[in-house]
Amino acid sequence: MLKSSQRSLLAVLAHPDHETFGCGGTLAKYAASGVDVALICATRGEVGEISSSALATSSNLGRVREEELRAACDILGVRELYLLGYRDSGMVGTPDNDHPEALCRASQGEVAGRIVEIIRKVRPQVVVTFDQTGGYGHPDHIAIHHATHDAFRVAGSESSSSQMSLDGPKPHQPSKLYYMTFPRSMFREFQKAIVSEGIDSDLAKMDVETMGTPDEEVTTVIDVSEFAEVKEKAALCHRTQIQGEGVFDWLPSSLRQRFLSTEYLVRDYPPPKGGNDVEMDLFGAVGTFGA
Ligand SMILES: [Zn+2]
Repeated sequence: MLKSSQRSLLAVLAHPDHETFGCGGTLAKYAASGVDVALICATRGEVGEISSSALATSSNLGRVREEELRAACDILGVRELYLLGYRDSGMVGTPDNDHPEALCRASQGEVAGRIVEIIRKVRPQVVVTFDQTGGYGHPDHIAIHHATHDAFRVAGSESSSSQMSLDGPKPHQPSKLYYMTFPRSMFREFQKAIVSEGIDSDLAKMDVETMGTPDEEVTTVIDVSEFAEVKEKAALCHRTQIQGEGVFDWLPSSLRQRFLSTEYLVRDYPPPKGGNDVEMDLFGAVGTFGA
């Protein structure tokens, strides 16, 4: 296949495990169909939860989670992984927000510039990142949303190349920008299950009516049922983030099945036309939009 017709997808995310829990089925599905799948992960998730002290300590969690991420990428078929090397900022209001290397302290322009450079190198038609809520308000998720949104707007423009070396990759405008999300109804069910199972999670205390996307605003639904097992296998790589033996095996089985077999996105660009049409392919109409 000619390089110019090669399809390519870039996911831009904040912590190890987003690539699996957020869009693992989608990445695996497109990788299996021959799409070049690349991933940017901005941090190593240094201040995430630790499911068992036998797996990691707070001082080596970043290194352990990088290994978990690399193993999951292999399973999903992610061909290129770019770590931006910022530090996990932790939840809002925690002391980790003030760490000098925390992602939330880096300027949006700096983070966007680094994403632009990778967009120009990878040259994807499709970019996937968080929505503006960051799923559930984590400052790193929101920072990556804004930086990626900015990067998408300028990656194709010559004028933003001024600080880049002349040998650097040429401008490239991806055709489509998507935000991975969960329909709000799913967050409601998820929180209900967390509370009834007595799972210790920040999600239990959050206002679910601010989380995810109102169901009617979801534009894109990807059937990943053929990749449910792959997604589960990748999820199992993230042992430090999993409570118990299996992947969400405490969830009601219908919700667990839905989580593993269906993924949801909102298309930011080109903007949806409205109406109730839901698309089922990220690469539909690629090439007819943008540059
Ligand atoms: Zn996260």
